[in-house]
Amino acid sequence: MSYKRIILKRGKEDSLLRFHPWIFSGAIHQKDTSLTDGEVADVYTHDGKFIAVGHYQPSSIEVRVLSFEERNIDESFWYERLSSALKMRQSLGLINAENNSYRLVHGEGDNLPGLIIDIYADTAVIQSHSVGMHLAHKQISASLQAVMGDVLKNIYYKSENTLQGRDEMVMENSYLLGGKSVNNVALENGLKYYADWEKGQKTGFFIDQRDNRALLGKYAKGRSILNMFCYSGGFSLYGLRGDAKLVHSVDSSAKAIVLTDENVKINFGEDDRHKSFAEDAFKYLRDMDKDVYDLIVLDPPAFAKHRGAIKNALQGYKRLNAVAFEKIKTGGVLFTFSCSQAISKEAFRLAVFSAAAQTGRKVRILHQLTQPDDHPVNIYHPEGEYLKGLVLYVE
Ligand code: SAH
Repeated sequence: MSYKRIILKRGKEDSLLRFHPWIFSGAIHQKDTSLTDGEVADVYTHDGKFIAVGHYQPSSIEVRVLSFEERNIDESFWYERLSSALKMRQSLGLINAENNSYRLVHGEGDNLPGLIIDIYADTAVIQSHSVGMHLAHKQISASLQAVMGDVLKNIYYKSENTLQGRDEMVMENSYLLGGKSVNNVALENGLKYYADWEKGQKTGFFIDQRDNRALLGKYAKGRSILNMFCYSGGFSLYGLRGDAKLVHSVDSSAKAIVLTDENVKINFGEDDRHKSFAEDAFKYLRDMDKDVYDLIVLDPPAFAKHRGAIKNALQGYKRLNAVAFEKIKTGGVLFTFSCSQAISKEAFRLAVFSAAAQTGRKVRILHQLTQPDDHPVNIYHPEGEYLKGLVLYVE
């Protein structure tokens, strides 16, 4: 089957020849006037050669490429891509008796731009970030069931808030499979946690910090830990398991604090070492005494949601880190992160450097962190690298 056509301006195929999966509106010479939002379209060079097939969406990124080969985008396409994603996770050893939560599909990183699928034990959460993926979600869900087999008892579709400005579409969050008596306790490296995909943030849990949390576990012994921006307490659980002296979890969201307390409880029962606070990060950091903590985690939400916000975001990272440098004990370890895609690794490091310089503390970089292997970066799409972190030793 052939799809409606989009023709590029002369010379605008270069990035596609290097397999970059986005076509910006400025590259388009002509398109079939009957193309509708989210429709699959074939893309041709100015000289009439086929170059890609993808989802059309009138916006600055006008086509998200699904394949550089001419092919139908049907159930067999979804089946192939999802099987390949699963095969990679299996080969990485991510799915085992200790760990049953992972990201199965990470958008461009799995050659499926606009699609996220997270797995929590026997539940999959599908999230569309493009109209094309939204229109295909039933096909995707059917293929997902075929690929995963009996393991999957529930599929939750959660795209209500990820397709802004497309109000005309009905995107109510709902179960596409199961949903009656869901078991929402998942396992990460042997730790239990509730993944609240119905009411929680994102798809229910921040899977992307798994490896970084495990690293914190190694530094926890005997330390007093502040887990700032804790959400459901991921880092806190590793701290407690790693024999921390005390762990304080802080988040401005009261719901997040409830989740954190529940997660501590299902792993450690009533544990006096843990306390949680529903408070604003900047207020908490300003008000807290010096030299209380010798391990601080700063994992704020994305300060820059788009390129226009970069300058303010960098100021924000600098301010936040400066207070941590001021207050952390001598010999303390700071885990500091940015998940803003628009902020580069270098820019983030510069912001943290400026914060350190401002406080005059001696600081050494122990680790440079990023997203884990179930959040792969397509080498042709460097924009997919979004999580960056530094582990710092502060004298
Ligand atoms: N570290 C977490 C993920 C953090 S997500 C984990 O491992 O799961 C960012 C969190 O910051 C969210 O839970 C959000 O509620 C919280 N947050 C946003 N603004 C805040 C603020 N000003 N003060 C404290 N917490 C804030």
